[in-house]
Amino acid sequence: MLTRVRYSYLAQQFDAAAIDEILERMRGVVESGAFTLGPAVAEFESQFAGLIGVRHAIGVGSGTDALKLGLRALNVGHGDEVITAANTFVASVGAIAEPGAVPVFVDCDDSFCMDVALVERAITPRTKAILPVHFTGETVSMKPLTAIAERHRLPLIEDACQAILAESDGKRAGTWGTVAGFSLHPLKNLNVWGDAGVVVTADDALAAKLRLLRNHGLCGRDEVEILGYNSRLDSVQAVVGSWLIGQTHEITARRIEHAAYYDAAFDAIAGVRVPPRRPGSRRVFHLYMVFAERRDDLYAYCQEHGIKAKIHYPIPIYRQRALRHLGHAEGDFPVADRHAREVISFPVDQHISRAEQDYVVEIVRKFYAR
Ligand SMILES: *Cc1c(COP(=O)(O)O)cnc(C)c1O
Repeated sequence: MLTRVRYSYLAQQFDAAAIDEILERMRGVVESGAFTLGPAVAEFESQFAGLIGVRHAIGVGSGTDALKLGLRALNVGHGDEVITAANTFVASVGAIAEPGAVPVFVDCDDSFCMDVALVERAITPRTKAILPVHFTGETVSMKPLTAIAERHRLPLIEDACQAILAESDGKRAGTWGTVAGFSLHPLKNLNVWGDAGVVVTADDALAAKLRLLRNHGLCGRDEVEILGYNSRLDSVQAVVGSWLIGQTHEITARRIEHAAYYDAAFDAIAGVRVPPRRPGSRRVFHLYMVFAERRDDLYAYCQEHGIKAKIHYPIPIYRQRALRHLGHAEGDFPVADRHAREVISFPVDQHISRAEQDYVVEIVRKFYAR
């Protein structure tokens, strides 16, 4: 079967004219030789800070590094516990494990985000931070989570990699936590031509530390203040980011509009359940996920009909082999387990056409009418 509805929109996003424009801007960087932390990076950082509405934005090598450096900046280290969601992309957990900290999971709810009501019982004397994940571009309920964090004097590190311009109770994702990490991965809502990320904070001292951490801890050419990483945002990627960043509001609006169109159509199909849409939250639909009866069959049926649907994820992170040392077993986080069986993702990017969306809906309707 020919692909009728693709998942990746990159070929549409970067058409010939866009490529020419970006390459022309890159020429300036190449000619100047300012490949590491030059003006291109500074310019993008200031644009990004303005977009999110946060004091400091520090360009780093990836979204994973943004979280990892954020944890390091907060002195999270060996043996410390960091609370996060039982269903997230591996990178949230990889970032926690990297400095030797231990991920402590809490289950999610049908918003796909961490169930905040379960967080407090996961706190122990070893807890050093809470890392909520704004999964799918929905937001964690940050008001009550902030209250819990304050009560226990724990910093919040937001994994906002999927949540650029999302809002929880009218306040942007990335502005709630002590620090927050964003990803500019090619398939994220604001994307570049490779790996890149941004770590943001309102705290001047933390920002200075993050700038050290991403560049070997070097303060100036010859002096090393702390041991850090080589995790600078590439100057050529900063050029792509600066070219695209002005479109972020439009990209977000399109995704929200396309999701609303799916919501209305899927609401009328008995085998599909649209997740509850929490009032006060602005979802930016990095992923569009619904619950589906006979999910695996629907998934296969979609592939047979040329729809590149996806599953995020068939095995929740807490049950992955890489984490077996934590001793978890199926059933420990029953909502995440149920999601692994029931969720399906359909393309919802800014470039998908109404005809493509109609085709997705028609195939899903046909599947349940059989
Ligand atoms: C993409 C993503 C990351 C990591 O971003 P990279 O830029 O790929 O390193 C972290 N957390 C979540 C939830 C993500 O979706």
